[in-house]
Amino acid sequence: MTTTKVVLRFPPELTDQPVTYKLIKEYDLMVNILRGHITPKEEGMLVLELTGKKKQLDRGMDYLAKLGVETQRLSKGVKWLKDRCTHCTACTSLCPTHALLVERDTMMVSFDRDKCIACEMCITVCPYSAMEVQV
Ligand code: SF4
Ligand code: SF4
Repeated sequence: MTTTKVVLRFPPELTDQPVTYKLIKEYDLMVNILRGHITPKEEGMLVLELTGKKKQLDRGMDYLAKLGVETQRLSKGVKWLKDRCTHCTACTSLCPTHALLVERDTMMVSFDRDKCIACEMCITVCPYSAMEVQV
């Protein structure tokens, strides 16, 4: 069995597709929805944890690509290098899960590993290389 986390981004015309149902029924995958934001007629976003045989996972990812769903596999984890962080807050508005949060009273940034889905958005935006992919 293989497990992978993936972000799906749907164009408006695909937000009503039964994607998770098909991944379960037709591709024999276990689907755990970690985050989701889908509004009819607007772009949608789902973060899924998919578990299954590697061949089935590959077939499921092929199905999504052919359907026109943009997919991004997530890394295993992201770490916060606290000593490098200057609390500039450049990352906090981008973090989709509020794992990086600024305390308004002190303007200090904190990182909640349990909320992080490893989407890596903070890595590209951090000017001080304070966020890194775990290897
Ligand atoms: S990788 Fe960064 S931006 Fe993405 S959820 Fe984790 S802390 Fe937030
Ligand atoms: S962008 Fe980097 S330096 Fe700025 S608050 Fe976020 S982690 Fe800290």
